Amino acid sequence: MKYAKIIVNISHENLDKTYEYAIPEEWETYAVIGAQVLIPFGARNRQIKGFILGITRNPEFPPERIKSIIKLIMDGTVIEGHFIQLATWIRTQYGSTMNDALRTVLPVKKTVKEQKEQYLHRIIDRERLFEYMEECERKHYTARYRLAATLEEQEVISYKEALEELNISRDVIRKFVDLGIISISSRRQYRNPIKEQMQIEKKIILTPKQQQISDEIWQEYQSGIRNTYLIRGVTGSGKTEVYFDIIERVVKDGKQVIFLIPEIALTVAMVERFHQRFGERVSVLHSKLSDGERFDQYERAKAGELDIMIGPRLALFTPFLELGLILLDEEHEPSYKSEAPPKYHAREVALQRAKMCNASVILGSATPSVESYYKAQCGEYKLFTLNERVGESRIPDISIVDLRKELKARNFSIFSRSLREKIQERLERKEQILLFLNRRGYAGFISCRQCGFVLECPHCQVSLTEHNNGKMMCHYCGYEIIKPSICPSCGSKYIASFGTGTQKVEEYARKEFPNAKILRMDRDTTSRKGAYEEILKAFERQEADILIGTQMIGKGHDFNNVTLVGALAADLSLFANDYRASERTFQLLCQVAGRAGRRERHGEAVIQTYQPEHYSITAAKKQDYEEFYQQEITYRKMLQYPPLGHLLAILLVSLDEKQVEKASILLTEAAKEKMGEKVIGPANAYHYRLKDRYRKVIYLKESDLEVLLEVKNYLEGFVDYSNYFQKINVYFDRNPLTMY
Ligand code: ADP
Ligand code: ZN
Ligand code: ZN
Repeated sequence: MKYAKIIVNISHENLDKTYEYAIPEEWETYAVIGAQVLIPFGARNRQIKGFILGITRNPEFPPERIKSIIKLIMDGTVIEGHFIQLATWIRTQYGSTMNDALRTVLPVKKTVKEQKEQYLHRIIDRERLFEYMEECERKHYTARYRLAATLEEQEVISYKEALEELNISRDVIRKFVDLGIISISSRRQYRNPIKEQMQIEKKIILTPKQQQISDEIWQEYQSGIRNTYLIRGVTGSGKTEVYFDIIERVVKDGKQVIFLIPEIALTVAMVERFHQRFGERVSVLHSKLSDGERFDQYERAKAGELDIMIGPRLALFTPFLELGLILLDEEHEPSYKSEAPPKYHAREVALQRAKMCNASVILGSATPSVESYYKAQCGEYKLFTLNERVGESRIPDISIVDLRKELKARNFSIFSRSLREKIQERLERKEQILLFLNRRGYAGFISCRQCGFVLECPHCQVSLTEHNNGKMMCHYCGYEIIKPSICPSCGSKYIASFGTGTQKVEEYARKEFPNAKILRMDRDTTSRKGAYEEILKAFERQEADILIGTQMIGKGHDFNNVTLVGALAADLSLFANDYRASERTFQLLCQVAGRAGRRERHGEAVIQTYQPEHYSITAAKKQDYEEFYQQEITYRKMLQYPPLGHLLAILLVSLDEKQVEKASILLTEAAKEKMGEKVIGPANAYHYRLKDRYRKVIYLKESDLEVLLEVKNYLEGFVDYSNYFQKINVYFDRNPLTMY
């Protein structure tokens, strides 16, 4: 006998609460996770609907006390059932509780009020209305006359308008109803987060290359083929116009579309563009909306009032009933991965959702993730490329400056001689400059400023990280050495961690260019709501000459007057202690260089680096994705890093240092039993002690995903049943984007 765990009320308050019911034999084949069922509930066996959340042969309740499912409800897919299936998939793929997985995929069901709007409808003909107006005139009923006259012009007016604009009392409106002049209807009014109404943009004629991409995808779509497509095209090559063309076709076919963007900061500009093109049936979902706004967008989607949903990760779970297409713009962006459990990747979940509801997926990027490009090379995705920018603007000239030579020439400034000269030139010509400092993910590495040498782990080929105990350490395997005081490669004493932040850069810049107006954009200056947009707008209005910032300045905005971009220490991200360091460096440099000379003016980019010969830098100089990819995939193959293998990080966190130590050893042993030497660690996490908790990390490397997931399931069970893990939180992260 099989038993089903059934959830009867999908609301955020009690997602965990399930009830066990026996599955009658005749329904067994249909009783799958996500299926909708009718069950007898409570003492009086009231018949209610529920969803199957899990199936087991070993119920927790005594079997004789378990009631039976009455029947399965078979009429069509119910969106909640679909999302329960998706949550189950997410749970097994990424490791999390079912509750967390359900919270991720299911729409908020907070108690928000529906907004209703009432309307007055004229139900008599105009002849009779005229008669009534005459009567009002005779009797000097001015308010009634006003209302009647308006109804003469418009058959329907809103209740609110009548009250507020015509200044009619509720009594008068009631009188009109009593007299049979009007009837009142009410309609659900959705909150609409898109405020402005803009006119429709004139239609663009696609270039033959753009048209060919759209046509090819559409032809497959029409003949029932659902595929994943990767469009690689430099910024400004017209990818978005291709998306629009296909979206239009899919929407005309009566299907819905989800368009994912990596960050909320980019929504405003994108939504504007969509709105111009597609009008009212476009909406947006993101975490900054109010509960009411968010709830209403789900409702609009379900009610069939929308064709297109735009937004970051979260928008992926829009309850469209006839989803035809999912697009991910800038598919390589790390923000597509969730940082909270379940640590899912939106690209992978998009592919899964598309598979479940027979939709196609389009991925787009100027610098695709190595994973996606690899899949395109293997034929799993269909690849299209757009190599040229549309119109006049050209790819900027990019030059590389070797910072080691600057040191030799006794230039200790953060600006190389050539960059300084170029900045000066631009300042004189009243053109603008972007200075970019790459600050993410390189904390703690040390390098030699004379020769560029960086300490690496001999086993993992990632850079070692400095600890305050004077040691250098690998965060994959725990390998450590004493921190050297002179460079092991050239003997120089200029070996230290690179400690310059944006604030320091600003100070230096003010000193070197005292007459320049400078703006800075980083976490500090953008923490206030709206500050990000303000800084960008101010720079756009040319209220400053130089904008200094981190990755934030690399995206989205078009600055007409920027003709010089400087990457101050391009290779910093290269030393991040994880295997994606080169990939991220290449992507960032391409993106940043692309900011120069977007329109008619020709732009220039200067990349300063200690490692001018590194392939991610030389390839970025040529803007040659292919060259970068070939090098990178060789490295990944050699060390079995994704996409060739899969990496599972297991993080153990506890207040008790001894216990977490012990538990991490036990878990490592358990893992080794299953997969031997493919288990790396345990090691101290980079932030070993965080908020008073101790953190240990274990990595599993395995080429077969199925095998890895099996081991993960085994370990999850191990953690659940072992006494050693009671005071320890264990988190799983597959193909992590950050190192622990
Ligand atoms: P991407 O998404 O690759 O960055 P976009 O689609 O945004 O590129 O195109 C860049 C600019 O070129 C936009 O202003 C867009 O309107 C314009 N554009 C794209 N394709 C065409 C075309 N076929 N004809 C005219 N303008 C185009
Ligand atoms: Zn050296
Ligand atoms: Zn190592």
